Amino acid sequence: MSRRVIELDEAVDRWRWVCPKGHRSWEPTNHHFWCAKCASRYEVDGVFHRLRDLATGDLFERDDVELRTETGPYSDRYGRESS
Ligand SMILES: [Zn+2]
Repeated sequence: MSRRVIELDEAVDRWRWVCPKGHRSWEPTNHHFWCAKCASRYEVDGVFHRLRDLATGDLFERDDVELRTETGPYSDRYGRESS
């Protein structure tokens, strides 16, 4: 299966992809995802590992998706070098 591309700066894509609880307040990290609402509402730290595609109901691991921003791939925006 090819990787799914998510345009982080596109409202349509942000609307389509949700955390396991159905929130759209998630953010990617280098190895998983994090949801602000989950972090505040539940007794968990908000980290989750599989993003849900509302269009199909499928779940995608962090490695299964390719995150892009207006300025390029997500990993490039934040980089791996410490600043
Ligand atoms: Zn959530």
